[in-house]
This record gives sequence, C-alpha cells and structure tokens, in this order.
Amino acid sequence: TRIRPSSKRCAVIGGSGFLGRHLVERLVGRGYTVSVFDIRQAYELPGVTFHQGDLCDKQALLSALKDVPIVFHCASPAPGSDDRALFQRVNIDGTRTVIQACLEAGVQKLILTSSASVVFEGTDIKNGKEDLPYAKKPIDYYTATKIQQEKLVLEACSKEKGFLTVAIRPHGIFGPRDPQLVPILVDSARRGKMKFIIGDGSNLVDFTYVENVVHGHILAAEHLKAESPLCAQAYHITNDEPVRF
Ligand code: NAD
Repeated sequence: TRIRPSSKRCAVIGGSGFLGRHLVERLVGRGYTVSVFDIRQAYELPGVTFHQGDLCDKQALLSALKDVPIVFHCASPAPGSDDRALFQRVNIDGTRTVIQACLEAGVQKLILTSSASVVFEGTDIKNGKEDLPYAKKPIDYYTATKIQQEKLVLEACSKEKGFLTVAIRPHGIFGPRDPQLVPILVDSARRGKMKFIIGDGSNLVDFTYVENVVHGHILAAEHLKAESPLCAQAYHITNDEPVRF
C-alpha cells in the first residue's frame, strides 16, 4: 500500500545542516510536509516548518514531533570539536531525549544518521559489511559517542510499542554546500600540505555523494515496517566505487 499524501509528514532533527538540508529538499520534492528541528534556522522553504531548539530539550522536541510519524535524526556537533562534554550531552544524552520524545509523541519510525567509522579500528577495512563489530578503540571521542548513539537507537526498536528504528552509516559525504570535507582538502592543498603520499598511492577511501546518502535514508524510512528485516539494523551507505585517495 502506498502512503497517502496526507500521511506524508516527517521531522528532520538537524535539518539545517549539510546532510539535513539535502534530505529536507528531497523529502519536500517527494511530497512530504517537513518539520525541521535545529538549534539554528539556515534557510526557508515552502512545505517546511522550522522549530528552533536544542534536541536535549524534550519539551521543545515534543512540539516539533506532534502528529509526525517519521523522524530523521541527523544532528550532531561538528566532528572536529574537542568538546567532549558537548558530544556526550548531544550525541548520547540528547539521543536518549530524542527517543523518549518520539515515544511520548507517538512517532512510528526513527532513522538515525550514524557513521561508518563506528566499526573502524584504525586498520584497513576492505569490503567491510555491517556484521563487523563496533570498534573497541574508536578513533576519537566523537566516534565513541556515535557508537553509543547508534546502540541506543537500535536497542529502542520495539514492535510491541509500534516504534521502529534503523541506522544509516555513511562515511565521508561530499556534494553541494559541503562545509567540511572538500573545503578542508582544498585548504590543505593551498597551504602545500597535500604533497605527501601515505603508502604507495593506491589507498582507497569511501566518500559518498550526498544525494546517495539522502536516498538511503528515504528508502530506509519508507521500507521500515514491523515485519521488515530493516528493524534495528544498521546499513553502510556508499557509492559503487570507492575514491582513489
Ligand atoms: P552539519 O554540522 O552540517 O549538520 C548538523 C546539524 O545539527 C547542524 O545544523 C546543527 O545546527 C545541528 N545541531 C547540532 N547540535 C544540535 C542540537 N543540540 N540540537 C539541535 N540541532 C543541533 O553536519 P552533517 O555533515 O550534515 O552531518 C549530519 C549527520 O551525519 C551527523 O550525525 C554526522 O555525525 C553524520 N555524518 C556526517 C558525515 C560527513 O562527512 N558529513 C559522515 C558520516 C556521518
């Protein structure tokens, strides 16, 4: 059965961000009415209602999640920050608050943007699948909190409560308005810091075009059902070919 237009409502937590905004634009294009919840409002778009607030504030979340069956959670402090307390507060405590608010608001599906680095132990992974264990020694504190966050969301999946969850794990995301990946590479190159090759030059790294990451999120949302194998699963999301780096 197809979702009737009237039931195509969703919320995007972190919808002002790089990935979040692409997701919002694609959702609107598919006929969804979207509520964005973010600490900042970055743009205006017909079909989109903005709710400015901190995801650690359950009351603020509840007003944005009212009558919303699907929630995408793609908010996070910038990975480059060294503010451990902030990562803990937003990615771990805040994700608990998001789950609690979803349950109280009667949300049916929660789609989390996780990260492929949750399985990265510092050594090469080739053709890694989702059955790899979580990293015992994550590469940084940001990643440690992404692991905890993913576990919280997947463990909250409950068919009895009618609350289904799934996690999408992109690696580096590139595309229009990318604030980090390509600008940082270009800046390093300009400062003459890209003249060294680590290894023999054949290292590959997984960058994913933002539209593919968005597509993965929407497919996950639309196929997540009580009887579906997606429930409580994490999915790596990648392009066909890794990028030579
Ligand atoms: P981004 O910084 O562009 O967007 C994050 C958004 O979250 C921002 O708009 C920010 O204002 C919002 N936010 C931060 N703290 C908040 C809070 N307490 N309450 C409400 N909103 C808050 O980042 P992005 O690149 O779009 O990343 C989106 C998600 O994708 C994140 O979960 C990130 O961990 C994940 N991810 C990103 C990449 C990448 O290469 N960009 C790779 C893997 C995973």
